[in-house]
Amino acid sequence: MSSESMTANVEAIFGENVFTMSKMRERLPKPVYAKLRSAMQGGPELSRADADVVAKAMKDWAIEKGATHYTHWFQPLTGITAEKHDSFVTPPDEEGHMLMEFSGKELIMGEPDASSFPSGGLRSTFEARGYTTWDVTSPAFLKATSAGYTLCIPTAFCSYTGEALDKKTPLLRSMEAVNNQALRLLRLFGDTESKKVLTCVGAEQEYFLVDKDTYLKRPDLIYSGRTLFGAPAPKGQEMEDHYFGVIRERIGAYMKDLNDELWRLGVPAKTQHNEAAPAQHELAPIYENANIACDHNQIIMEAMKRVAIHHGLRCLLHEKPFAGVNGSGKHNNWSLQTDTGINLLDPGESPERNIQFLLILSCILKAVDVHADLLRQSASDVGNDHRLGENEAPPAIISVFLGAQLADVVRQLVETGAADKHIKGGVLKTGVSTLPDLVKDATDRNRTSPFAFTGNKFEFRMVGSADSIGSCNTILNAIVAEAFSDAADELEKADNLPMAVHDLLKKNFIEHQRIIFNGNGYAKEWVKEAARRGLPNIPGTVEAASALTTDKAVALFERFGIFTRSELESREEITYETYSKTINIEALTMIDMAGKQILPACMHYAGELASSVSALNAVGLSSAAETERLKEIVSLIDEMQGALDTLKKLTLKAESLKTDTIERAKKQACLYKDQVKPAMKALRTPADALEMLVDKREWPFPTYGDLMFEI
Ligand code: ADP
Ligand code: MG
Repeated sequence: MSSESMTANVEAIFGENVFTMSKMRERLPKPVYAKLRSAMQGGPELSRADADVVAKAMKDWAIEKGATHYTHWFQPLTGITAEKHDSFVTPPDEEGHMLMEFSGKELIMGEPDASSFPSGGLRSTFEARGYTTWDVTSPAFLKATSAGYTLCIPTAFCSYTGEALDKKTPLLRSMEAVNNQALRLLRLFGDTESKKVLTCVGAEQEYFLVDKDTYLKRPDLIYSGRTLFGAPAPKGQEMEDHYFGVIRERIGAYMKDLNDELWRLGVPAKTQHNEAAPAQHELAPIYENANIACDHNQIIMEAMKRVAIHHGLRCLLHEKPFAGVNGSGKHNNWSLQTDTGINLLDPGESPERNIQFLLILSCILKAVDVHADLLRQSASDVGNDHRLGENEAPPAIISVFLGAQLADVVRQLVETGAADKHIKGGVLKTGVSTLPDLVKDATDRNRTSPFAFTGNKFEFRMVGSADSIGSCNTILNAIVAEAFSDAADELEKADNLPMAVHDLLKKNFIEHQRIIFNGNGYAKEWVKEAARRGLPNIPGTVEAASALTTDKAVALFERFGIFTRSELESREEITYETYSKTINIEALTMIDMAGKQILPACMHYAGELASSVSALNAVGLSSAAETERLKEIVSLIDEMQGALDTLKKLTLKAESLKTDTIERAKKQACLYKDQVKPAMKALRTPADALEMLVDKREWPFPTYGDLMFEI
């Protein structure tokens, strides 16, 4: 490898394309910089005059780097990002000179035509006003694409009346809620220094890479992001030789460019490796503040796709691109840290810190138990329905893994007698004098748990690879804020705090210990045991959606100003709409491929076989093998044709349903789930069988083997 193709000095390029704090400090007048910093930390908003100064500095920097356009970069409810580019060009003067400009007004607020984004009834098309407003807590960055450099300003997206039309606004609101409630608890434990509690998130991202030419021959990958037909390749992932295997040269070159691009964008890309399935890989960044982590996860997904194109590859982020091998997820690592650097999920060295830790742990258990349905909902999307509960991803049942030692501490606490016997000098005896190292045991791993404690953080393993992490972190923060708030309400009234803390954490553990499960989440017995414990087992996206609008959920979100009832209803409605549209596209793609590619190819091959059989017969010979094969093919063709007709009928029926209310939208989604999906399966089965009988030269598109092994 030549030295030029080696990565430039990472320290030098890191954040090169970000308008970082240090660039702001260099380029802004001191007072403006100070005001901006204060706005970032929750202080007063910038005045228009100051915003003008910031906008000019930002524009000058961007133009020096070669930028011509800017965009308000936002995260509508499609789950991906949206952008509309405007150039800095202004009307030329009389002499034809033009100055590139960018005002504070343009920086702070934008008004994209919002009518085409999903809003679930929040904003009807005729009043299509939506506003994007600058999220000062997330830095502006330059995106390099074939369109040149574009200055991207991370923004929140709201309707004219202030309802959140995006994934970012509720996330920011939920971070505020958990911050406020956590601080109340910290104050009780004597922490007077911390000013803020931050939600920290590190999202491990799985993905597949396939060759561009192979990809472009598969309409299913092009239209739906996953294969809708395909017999298994002779080899799958059974040898476990891909996971952590040597990274192939072509993939290595891709990863190098991806890292390079991400580092320039200030994304702390850290870990890369091959994943379980052939052609599957993973990238993990270092954890960051949830809002930034969410932006960065979107940047990572976009960059993965873009860099793939430059390498003659295509990146598949779908949760289940191939049947029969693992799909992709996103492990959302989550913790709470103070601005003074203390991780609230770290048991700590002293017994006092242990009690605080145990109280926080007990609140999180309570939150997850009370709102298991919401957490489940936050990880549901139509692609993820193929993974959860399929022995490759966590089961659909929410439970918490604590590890043997921590679970034992909880058990001891639950079983101890009256509190007074166990409190001496304000120090709680947990049965183990201190907790520090015991929960950090790296061997204590459980890969089948949806929500696992891993030493000083929780890992929510259910999220789908293509999904935004905005929703799951909003829910996590909200439910934990509620449990903290309940605890603080009680403890702030207490005369004897240590005693009250002990009672409360014991109460929480007793009432919510059913959510703890350290066993094998894939085992059939767990489904029964979970039912016995009364834990919800919500099979998929359609069933999960109504969790958003239960009275319990509305009360939770309204209490902390995270969602209004109408914002929640809109999200439920969008879930049904998206579900129906996605399955509809998949069904139409199958109809297209079956009718225009697979059946004609099979019929052609059957014709050839028939001629060969009759040619043999004509000379007095006969081939039993050929006749048998012909019969089998003809019967499968008939089966396919029948399944195709049924699928066409059902798809038309589902498509024609009225969806003007949530109930009707739900009815339509159910029709897609209960009738169209099984009809798709009925079409796929004979097609995959035919693939194994028809001459490979006649098969109209690349096979699983071609896709997963030939890159
Ligand atoms: P593990 O192997 O336990 O999953 P890793 O060290 O591989 O942990 O980290 C996985 C992800 O979790 C990374 O993105 C990492 O930055 C993130 N992470 C580590 N510590 C924390 C924490 N305290 N809070 C949130 N995320 C964290
Ligand atoms: Mg991990």
